[in-house]
Amino acid sequence: MRAAVIREFHRPLVLEDRPVPEPGLGQVRVKIETSGVCHTDIHAANGDWPVKPVLPLVPGHEGVGLVDALGEGVTRVGIGQRVAIPWLGGADGTCEYCVKGLETYCLNPTFTGYTVDGGYREFSIANANHVGIVPEGVDPFDAAPLTCAGVTTYKAVKTAEVGPSDVVGDRRDRRARPPRVAVRPYRGRVHGGDRRGRREARPRERLGADQVIHAGRQDVVGEMRALGGADAIVTTAATPEPLAAAFASLRPAGRLVLVGLPADNVFPLPIFETVLRGIAVVGSLVGTREDLAEVFQLHAQGRTQVELETRDLSQVNECFREVLAGSVPARLVFDMR
Ligand SMILES: [Zn+2]
Ligand SMILES: [Zn+2]
Repeated sequence: MRAAVIREFHRPLVLEDRPVPEPGLGQVRVKIETSGVCHTDIHAANGDWPVKPVLPLVPGHEGVGLVDALGEGVTRVGIGQRVAIPWLGGADGTCEYCVKGLETYCLNPTFTGYTVDGGYREFSIANANHVGIVPEGVDPFDAAPLTCAGVTTYKAVKTAEVGPSDVVGDRRDRRARPPRVAVRPYRGRVHGGDRRGRREARPRERLGADQVIHAGRQDVVGEMRALGGADAIVTTAATPEPLAAAFASLRPAGRLVLVGLPADNVFPLPIFETVLRGIAVVGSLVGTREDLAEVFQLHAQGRTQVELETRDLSQVNECFREVLAGSVPARLVFDMR
């Protein structure tokens, strides 16, 4: 089978021919149909984060496909079932956080495409109890970005604790293409921020934002304040610069939800304004199995849209360049069928 492999940090991925893997106890083998490209995969390939992956590594945590072999003891899924293999590849199910329903913060997790091989290959191995079940009515191409980008932003909105009339900002930056998914399980107002004019129409008309502010042409903080400020802002930016503007755009008692993971790792938090305005800054990491099931359900009901472009796995290095250059206004998904 074909696999795209990180052999060395900061080097192009290598396309390799590998034997088809066999599922072990509690695992399934998935014949991958689609596999999305997440900015995290680029961070993995560059060893950007404090905890670096062990190489060689097959990245990818948006793999979707059909179960084609069952390891011993698997009862949750069957042959031919369409499943998604998310970032949280496994959790022990017994630690304090798992038991509290916070499995994404498990003390003994495995991370797909980071601590174990992921979805940039034609056949992938996954923990049967941790795959997402892709329901009828969700296209496998849509399912791929929903598996990380979708569930991550959905969970961030939950973490933002927004109410029915709250103003919600979705702060993106130019370098990192945002997840092309609008998730609106609430009836709040959405304001998308973006640097490029040509994408202005997208969040409003296609993804349901009420107002779009462009960081390249407009004063984000001034415009947000003119709107009365935001009750919550979700930042998916992969650079720290937009965070200062996002922070300053919040209303008193507002929540800044951090999702993107800039390699630089820090941003200055003004303590005076945080205290006097009662601001909450909170992180949100992907989502649980239940969150992913909800995302798929909302999508099956036609409540969300995914913007994607397909690529071949052989174009993986070009895809990384496209994501870094911000030249593609959609999620990139490998067509592996
Ligand atoms: Zn991701
Ligand atoms: Zn645990």
